[in-house]
Amino acid sequence: MTPLGRIIAGRIAQDGPMRLDDYMRLCLMHPQHGYYPTRDPFGAGGDFVTAPEISQMFGEMVGLALAQAWLDQGSPAPFALAELGPGRGTLMADILRAARQVPGFCAAAQVALVEASPHLRALQRQRLGQVAHLDHAGQLPEMPLFLVANEFFDALPIRQFQRMAGGWAERVVSLRDGALALALAQPAPLPRAGAEGEIWETCPEGPPVMAEIAGRIARHGGAALIIDYGNWDGRGDSLQALRAHAFEGVLDHPGEADLTAHVDFAPLAAAALAAGAAVSAPVPQGEWLLSLGIAQRARRLADAGDGGAPDALERLTGPAAMGQLFKAMAIFPRHAVPPPGFVPLSPRETGPFPDASPVGL
Ligand code: SAH
Repeated sequence: MTPLGRIIAGRIAQDGPMRLDDYMRLCLMHPQHGYYPTRDPFGAGGDFVTAPEISQMFGEMVGLALAQAWLDQGSPAPFALAELGPGRGTLMADILRAARQVPGFCAAAQVALVEASPHLRALQRQRLGQVAHLDHAGQLPEMPLFLVANEFFDALPIRQFQRMAGGWAERVVSLRDGALALALAQPAPLPRAGAEGEIWETCPEGPPVMAEIAGRIARHGGAALIIDYGNWDGRGDSLQALRAHAFEGVLDHPGEADLTAHVDFAPLAAAALAAGAAVSAPVPQGEWLLSLGIAQRARRLADAGDGGAPDALERLTGPAAMGQLFKAMAIFPRHAVPPPGFVPLSPRETGPFPDASPVGL
Protein backbone atom coordinates (compact mmCIF):
# COMPACT_ATOMS: atom_id res chain seq x y z
CA MET A 1 0.00 0.00 0.00
CA THR A 2 1.21 3.56 -0.67
CA PRO A 3 1.99 5.87 2.31
CA LEU A 4 -1.24 7.77 1.61
CA GLY A 5 -3.13 4.46 1.32
CA ARG A 6 -2.02 3.62 4.88
CA ILE A 7 -3.18 7.04 6.12
CA ILE A 8 -6.57 6.59 4.44
CA ALA A 9 -6.95 3.03 5.77
CA GLY A 10 -6.21 4.34 9.27
CA ARG A 11 -8.89 7.01 8.96
CA ILE A 12 -11.47 4.52 7.70
CA ALA A 13 -10.62 2.11 10.55
CA GLN A 14 -11.28 4.96 12.99
CA ASP A 15 -14.16 6.90 11.41
CA GLY A 16 -15.87 4.39 9.11
CA PRO A 17 -16.26 4.36 5.30
CA MET A 18 -15.04 7.43 3.40
CA ARG A 19 -17.02 9.26 0.72
CA LEU A 20 -15.45 9.19 -2.77
CA ASP A 21 -15.07 12.99 -2.92
CA ASP A 22 -13.12 12.92 0.36
CA TYR A 23 -10.98 10.06 -0.98
CA MET A 24 -10.35 11.88 -4.27
CA ARG A 25 -9.48 15.16 -2.53
CA LEU A 26 -6.90 13.40 -0.32
CA CYS A 27 -5.40 11.49 -3.26
CA LEU A 28 -5.02 14.60 -5.41
CA MET A 29 -4.20 17.28 -2.84
CA HIS A 30 -2.82 15.77 0.42
CA PRO A 31 0.03 18.20 1.23
CA GLN A 32 2.74 15.53 1.74
CA HIS A 33 1.51 12.58 -0.32
CA GLY A 34 -1.08 13.99 -2.74
CA TYR A 35 -0.70 13.60 -6.48
CA TYR A 36 -0.47 17.26 -7.56
CA PRO A 37 1.53 18.72 -4.64
CA THR A 38 4.33 16.18 -5.08
CA ARG A 39 5.01 15.95 -8.81
CA ASP A 40 4.90 17.26 -12.37
CA PRO A 41 2.46 14.80 -13.95
CA PHE A 42 2.48 16.23 -17.47
CA GLY A 43 4.30 15.27 -20.63
CA ALA A 44 5.96 12.19 -22.04
CA GLY A 45 7.79 11.32 -18.81
CA GLY A 46 4.69 11.90 -16.66
CA ASP A 47 1.31 10.22 -16.36
CA PHE A 48 -0.72 12.04 -19.00
CA VAL A 49 -0.42 14.62 -21.78
CA THR A 50 -2.79 17.58 -21.97
CA ALA A 51 -3.70 19.61 -25.06
CA PRO A 52 -1.33 22.55 -24.36
CA GLU A 53 1.53 20.07 -23.86
CA ILE A 54 0.79 18.45 -27.24
CA SER A 55 1.29 21.64 -29.23
CA GLN A 56 1.62 25.41 -28.99
CA MET A 57 -1.30 25.62 -31.44
CA PHE A 58 -3.83 24.89 -28.69
CA GLY A 59 -2.79 27.88 -26.56
CA GLU A 60 -2.56 30.08 -29.64
CA MET A 61 -6.18 29.33 -30.57
CA VAL A 62 -7.34 29.92 -26.96
CA GLY A 63 -5.34 33.17 -26.79
CA LEU A 64 -6.75 34.51 -30.04
CA ALA A 65 -10.32 33.54 -29.01
CA LEU A 66 -9.93 35.39 -25.68
CA ALA A 67 -8.35 38.41 -27.42
CA GLN A 68 -11.21 38.50 -29.96
CA ALA A 69 -13.76 38.42 -27.12
CA TRP A 70 -11.83 41.26 -25.42
CA LEU A 71 -11.90 43.34 -28.63
CA ASP A 72 -15.62 42.58 -29.14
CA GLN A 73 -16.35 43.96 -25.66
CA GLY A 74 -14.54 47.26 -26.27
CA SER A 75 -11.02 46.34 -25.03
CA PRO A 76 -11.64 46.91 -21.30
CA ALA A 77 -8.50 47.92 -19.37
CA PRO A 78 -7.31 46.77 -16.95
CA PHE A 79 -8.70 43.24 -16.91
CA ALA A 80 -7.88 39.93 -15.21
CA LEU A 81 -6.41 37.26 -17.50
CA ALA A 82 -6.97 34.17 -15.41
CA GLU A 83 -6.48 30.43 -15.57
CA LEU A 84 -7.79 27.67 -13.32
CA GLY A 85 -5.31 24.82 -12.76
CA PRO A 86 -2.50 26.01 -15.06
CA GLY A 87 -0.32 22.87 -14.75
CA ARG A 88 3.16 23.75 -16.06
CA GLY A 89 2.08 27.23 -17.24
CA THR A 90 2.41 26.23 -20.89
CA LEU A 91 -1.12 27.26 -21.90
CA MET A 92 -0.82 30.74 -20.34
CA ALA A 93 2.61 31.24 -21.96
CA ASP A 94 1.16 30.36 -25.39
CA ILE A 95 -1.90 32.60 -24.80
CA LEU A 96 0.32 35.58 -23.95
CA ARG A 97 2.61 34.97 -26.95
CA ALA A 98 -0.31 34.71 -29.41
CA ALA A 99 -2.14 37.70 -27.90
CA ARG A 100 0.93 39.91 -28.33
CA GLN A 101 -0.34 40.44 -31.88
CA VAL A 102 -3.36 42.25 -30.45
CA PRO A 103 -2.31 45.80 -29.49
CA GLY A 104 -3.07 46.71 -25.89
CA PHE A 105 -4.15 43.24 -24.74
CA CYS A 106 -1.03 42.18 -22.83
CA ALA A 107 -0.49 45.66 -21.36
CA ALA A 108 -4.03 45.66 -19.93
CA ALA A 109 -3.87 42.04 -18.66
CA GLN A 110 -3.28 41.27 -14.98
CA VAL A 111 -2.44 37.57 -14.90
CA ALA A 112 -4.05 35.59 -12.06
CA LEU A 113 -3.59 31.83 -11.64
CA VAL A 114 -5.78 29.65 -9.42
CA GLU A 115 -3.51 26.78 -8.37
CA ALA A 116 -3.60 24.61 -5.26
CA SER A 117 -0.28 22.80 -5.68
CA PRO A 118 2.85 24.58 -4.33
CA HIS A 119 5.02 22.43 -6.60
CA LEU A 120 3.11 23.46 -9.74
CA ARG A 121 3.01 27.11 -8.56
CA ALA A 122 6.82 27.06 -8.64
CA LEU A 123 6.86 25.60 -12.17
CA GLN A 124 4.37 28.26 -13.28
CA ARG A 125 6.53 31.04 -11.84
CA GLN A 126 9.58 29.65 -13.64
CA ARG A 127 7.65 29.75 -16.88
CA LEU A 128 5.74 33.01 -16.53
CA GLY A 129 7.72 35.13 -14.09
CA GLN A 130 5.98 36.80 -11.16
CA VAL A 131 2.24 36.15 -11.38
CA ALA A 132 -0.54 36.39 -8.81
CA HIS A 133 -1.42 32.97 -7.38
CA LEU A 134 -4.85 32.45 -5.84
CA ASP A 135 -6.15 29.55 -3.75
CA HIS A 136 -9.63 29.53 -5.27
CA ALA A 137 -11.83 31.30 -7.81
CA GLY A 138 -13.55 33.33 -5.06
CA GLN A 139 -10.34 35.37 -4.79
CA LEU A 140 -10.39 36.53 -8.44
CA PRO A 141 -10.46 40.35 -8.62
CA GLU A 142 -13.70 42.22 -9.27
CA MET A 143 -12.93 43.45 -12.80
CA PRO A 144 -13.50 42.27 -16.39
CA LEU A 145 -12.43 38.62 -16.43
CA PHE A 146 -11.04 36.66 -19.37
CA LEU A 147 -10.42 33.12 -18.18
CA VAL A 148 -9.53 29.65 -19.38
CA ALA A 149 -9.80 26.32 -17.59
CA ASN A 150 -8.40 23.30 -19.42
CA GLU A 151 -8.71 19.95 -17.65
CA PHE A 152 -9.45 21.68 -14.33
CA PHE A 153 -13.04 20.64 -13.61
CA ASP A 154 -12.24 16.94 -14.26
CA ALA A 155 -9.88 17.03 -11.25
CA LEU A 156 -12.54 18.25 -8.81
CA PRO A 157 -13.78 15.53 -6.42
CA ILE A 158 -16.98 13.70 -7.28
CA ARG A 159 -19.58 11.65 -5.39
CA GLN A 160 -21.18 8.56 -6.90
CA PHE A 161 -24.57 7.01 -6.23
CA GLN A 162 -25.79 3.62 -7.37
CA ARG A 163 -29.42 2.71 -7.93
CA MET A 164 -30.45 -0.33 -5.87
CA ALA A 165 -33.83 -2.02 -5.72
CA GLY A 166 -34.84 0.11 -2.74
CA GLY A 167 -33.41 3.46 -3.91
CA TRP A 168 -30.03 5.12 -4.35
CA ALA A 169 -26.97 4.31 -2.19
CA GLU A 170 -23.69 6.25 -2.07
CA ARG A 171 -20.50 4.50 -3.21
CA VAL A 172 -17.82 4.81 -0.52
CA VAL A 173 -14.30 3.56 0.23
CA SER A 174 -14.24 0.91 2.94
CA LEU A 175 -11.82 -1.74 4.24
CA ARG A 176 -11.95 -5.43 3.32
CA ASP A 177 -9.30 -7.70 4.91
CA GLY A 178 -7.21 -4.60 5.63
CA ALA A 179 -7.27 -3.39 2.00
CA LEU A 180 -9.20 -0.47 0.52
CA ALA A 181 -12.41 -1.62 -1.20
CA LEU A 182 -15.44 0.06 -2.76
CA ALA A 183 -18.69 -0.44 -0.87
CA LEU A 184 -22.21 0.97 -0.75
CA ALA A 185 -23.31 3.12 2.18
CA GLN A 186 -26.81 3.57 3.58
CA PRO A 187 -29.54 4.49 1.09
CA ALA A 188 -29.33 8.15 0.04
CA PRO A 189 -32.44 10.34 -0.44
CA LEU A 190 -31.96 11.05 -4.14
CA PRO A 191 -35.16 11.72 -6.09
CA ARG A 192 -33.89 10.70 -9.52
CA ALA A 193 -35.08 8.20 -12.05
CA GLY A 194 -32.59 5.42 -12.78
CA ALA A 195 -32.53 1.74 -13.71
CA GLU A 196 -31.30 -0.71 -11.10
CA GLY A 197 -27.48 -0.81 -11.12
CA GLU A 198 -27.15 2.60 -12.77
CA ILE A 199 -24.49 4.95 -11.38
CA TRP A 200 -24.93 8.71 -11.18
CA GLU A 201 -22.11 11.17 -10.46
CA THR A 202 -22.14 14.67 -9.05
CA CYS A 203 -19.30 17.17 -8.52
CA PRO A 204 -20.27 19.41 -5.58
CA GLU A 205 -17.37 21.88 -5.99
CA GLY A 206 -17.93 22.57 -9.71
CA PRO A 207 -21.04 24.81 -9.69
CA PRO A 208 -19.80 27.13 -6.88
CA VAL A 209 -16.54 27.72 -8.81
CA MET A 210 -18.56 28.43 -11.94
CA ALA A 211 -20.82 30.85 -10.04
CA GLU A 212 -17.77 32.89 -8.93
CA ILE A 213 -16.52 33.19 -12.51
CA ALA A 214 -19.89 33.81 -14.16
CA GLY A 215 -20.89 36.40 -11.54
CA ARG A 216 -17.78 38.46 -12.35
CA ILE A 217 -18.41 38.15 -16.09
CA ALA A 218 -22.04 39.23 -15.62
CA ARG A 219 -21.03 42.22 -13.44
CA HIS A 220 -17.89 43.45 -15.24
CA GLY A 221 -17.77 41.77 -18.67
CA GLY A 222 -15.33 39.15 -19.92
CA ALA A 223 -15.44 35.56 -21.13
CA ALA A 224 -14.55 32.13 -19.78
CA LEU A 225 -13.56 29.14 -21.90
CA ILE A 226 -14.07 25.80 -20.17
CA ILE A 227 -12.43 22.87 -21.96
CA ASP A 228 -12.64 19.36 -20.61
CA TYR A 229 -13.63 15.84 -21.39
CA GLY A 230 -17.21 15.08 -20.58
CA ASN A 231 -20.84 15.17 -21.48
CA TRP A 232 -24.19 16.76 -20.80
CA ASP A 233 -25.19 14.54 -17.88
CA GLY A 234 -23.66 12.69 -14.96
CA ARG A 235 -24.84 9.19 -15.78
CA GLY A 236 -22.38 6.31 -15.57
CA ASP A 237 -19.19 5.58 -13.65
CA SER A 238 -16.46 7.75 -15.21
CA LEU A 239 -14.00 7.91 -12.30
CA GLN A 240 -10.61 6.79 -13.59
CA ALA A 241 -7.03 6.45 -12.43
CA LEU A 242 -4.09 7.02 -14.75
CA ARG A 243 -0.49 6.22 -13.85
CA ALA A 244 2.45 6.26 -16.29
CA HIS A 245 0.03 6.54 -19.24
CA ALA A 246 -1.91 3.39 -18.21
CA PHE A 247 -5.33 3.03 -16.60
CA GLU A 248 -5.56 1.25 -13.26
CA GLY A 249 -8.06 0.75 -10.42
CA VAL A 250 -8.97 3.96 -8.57
CA LEU A 251 -7.92 2.37 -5.25
CA ASP A 252 -4.64 0.83 -6.51
CA HIS A 253 -2.10 3.59 -5.74
CA PRO A 254 -3.65 6.42 -3.67
CA GLY A 255 -1.64 9.62 -4.18
CA GLU A 256 0.47 8.16 -7.00
CA ALA A 257 -2.12 8.04 -9.79
CA ASP A 258 -4.09 10.86 -11.36
CA LEU A 259 -7.81 10.59 -10.56
CA THR A 260 -10.34 12.32 -12.84
CA ALA A 261 -13.98 12.05 -13.81
CA HIS A 262 -15.94 13.16 -16.87
CA VAL A 263 -17.21 16.69 -16.48
CA ASP A 264 -20.99 17.06 -16.43
CA PHE A 265 -21.37 20.40 -18.23
CA ALA A 266 -25.10 20.80 -17.48
CA PRO A 267 -24.83 21.83 -13.79
CA LEU A 268 -21.94 24.14 -14.68
CA ALA A 269 -24.10 25.82 -17.34
CA ALA A 270 -26.98 26.06 -14.88
CA ALA A 271 -24.73 27.74 -12.28
CA ALA A 272 -23.46 30.26 -14.87
CA LEU A 273 -27.01 31.12 -15.98
CA ALA A 274 -28.14 31.48 -12.36
CA ALA A 275 -25.23 33.87 -11.75
CA GLY A 276 -26.54 36.12 -14.53
CA ALA A 277 -24.22 35.23 -17.43
CA ALA A 278 -24.93 33.71 -20.84
CA VAL A 279 -23.67 30.25 -21.79
CA SER A 280 -22.77 28.63 -25.09
CA ALA A 281 -23.71 25.16 -26.17
CA PRO A 282 -20.78 22.78 -25.53
CA VAL A 283 -18.87 22.20 -28.80
CA PRO A 284 -16.59 19.21 -29.48
CA GLN A 285 -12.97 20.39 -29.13
CA GLY A 286 -12.04 19.33 -32.67
CA GLU A 287 -14.91 21.25 -34.22
CA TRP A 288 -14.12 24.33 -32.12
CA LEU A 289 -10.39 24.39 -32.91
CA LEU A 290 -11.01 23.82 -36.64
CA SER A 291 -13.52 26.70 -36.70
CA LEU A 292 -10.77 28.93 -35.27
CA GLY A 293 -8.33 28.03 -38.06
CA ILE A 294 -6.04 25.50 -36.38
CA ALA A 295 -5.63 23.51 -39.63
CA GLN A 296 -4.26 26.58 -41.42
CA ARG A 297 -1.95 27.26 -38.47
CA ALA A 298 -0.69 23.64 -38.57
CA ARG A 299 0.09 24.00 -42.29
CA ARG A 300 2.08 27.18 -41.69
CA LEU A 301 4.04 25.57 -38.84
CA ALA A 302 4.74 22.52 -41.02
CA ASP A 303 5.90 24.76 -43.89
CA ALA A 304 8.21 26.52 -41.43
CA GLY A 305 9.83 23.18 -40.55
CA ASP A 306 7.73 21.94 -37.57
CA GLY A 307 7.46 18.28 -38.60
CA GLY A 308 5.23 17.45 -35.63
CA ALA A 309 2.43 19.87 -36.50
CA PRO A 310 0.27 17.53 -38.67
CA ASP A 311 0.37 14.81 -36.00
CA ALA A 312 -0.45 17.33 -33.24
CA LEU A 313 -3.37 18.62 -35.31
CA GLU A 314 -4.75 15.09 -35.53
CA ARG A 315 -4.34 14.48 -31.79
CA LEU A 316 -6.11 17.73 -30.88
CA THR A 317 -8.95 17.54 -33.41
CA GLY A 318 -9.34 13.91 -34.60
CA PRO A 319 -12.59 12.26 -33.46
CA ALA A 320 -10.71 9.15 -32.29
CA ALA A 321 -8.23 11.30 -30.33
CA MET A 322 -9.29 14.37 -28.29
CA GLY A 323 -11.54 16.00 -30.89
CA GLN A 324 -14.86 14.45 -29.93
CA LEU A 325 -14.58 13.44 -26.25
CA PHE A 326 -13.35 16.88 -25.17
CA LYS A 327 -15.84 19.76 -25.24
CA ALA A 328 -15.44 23.52 -25.07
CA MET A 329 -18.06 25.76 -23.48
CA ALA A 330 -18.04 29.57 -23.22
CA ILE A 331 -19.47 31.90 -20.56
CA PHE A 332 -20.02 35.54 -21.60
CA PRO A 333 -22.17 38.57 -20.69
CA ARG A 334 -25.84 38.35 -21.68
CA HIS A 335 -25.66 41.25 -24.11
CA ALA A 336 -22.28 40.41 -25.67
CA VAL A 337 -21.61 38.32 -28.78
CA PRO A 338 -20.33 34.84 -27.89
CA PRO A 339 -16.55 34.26 -28.16
CA PRO A 340 -15.50 32.94 -31.61
CA GLY A 341 -16.58 29.40 -32.43
CA PHE A 342 -19.55 29.34 -30.02
CA VAL A 343 -23.30 29.74 -30.34
CA PRO A 344 -25.59 30.54 -27.39
CA LEU A 345 -27.09 27.59 -25.57
CA SER A 346 -30.50 26.64 -26.88
CA PRO A 347 -32.47 24.65 -24.29
CA ARG A 348 -34.42 23.11 -27.16
CA GLU A 349 -31.25 21.49 -28.53
CA THR A 350 -29.79 20.31 -25.29
CA GLY A 351 -32.87 19.31 -23.32
CA PRO A 352 -33.76 20.27 -19.78
CA PHE A 353 -31.11 20.52 -17.08
CA PRO A 354 -30.83 17.42 -14.93
CA ASP A 355 -31.07 18.09 -11.18
CA ALA A 356 -27.90 19.92 -10.20
CA SER A 357 -28.41 19.69 -6.46
CA PRO A 358 -30.67 16.85 -5.39
CA VAL A 359 -32.49 17.01 -2.08
CA GLY A 360 -30.60 15.77 0.95
CA LEU A 361 -27.02 15.90 -0.37
N1 SAH B 1 -4.50 23.08 -17.37
C1 SAH B 1 -3.27 22.31 -17.34
C2 SAH B 1 -3.25 21.29 -16.20
C3 SAH B 1 -4.42 20.40 -15.98
S1 SAH B 1 -4.21 19.30 -14.59
C4 SAH B 1 -3.05 21.63 -18.66
O1 SAH B 1 -3.97 21.63 -19.48
O2 SAH B 1 -1.96 21.13 -18.89
C5 SAH B 1 -5.15 20.05 -13.30
C6 SAH B 1 -4.55 21.31 -12.73
O3 SAH B 1 -5.50 21.82 -11.77
C7 SAH B 1 -3.26 21.17 -11.98
O4 SAH B 1 -2.50 22.35 -12.14
C8 SAH B 1 -3.74 21.00 -10.52
O5 SAH B 1 -2.74 21.25 -9.56
C9 SAH B 1 -4.87 21.99 -10.49
N2 SAH B 1 -5.92 21.73 -9.50
C10 SAH B 1 -6.60 20.59 -9.32
N3 SAH B 1 -7.54 20.73 -8.36
C11 SAH B 1 -7.47 22.02 -7.94
C12 SAH B 1 -8.18 22.79 -6.98
N4 SAH B 1 -9.15 22.24 -6.26
N5 SAH B 1 -7.84 24.08 -6.82
C13 SAH B 1 -6.84 24.64 -7.55
N6 SAH B 1 -6.13 23.95 -8.47
C14 SAH B 1 -6.42 22.66 -8.67
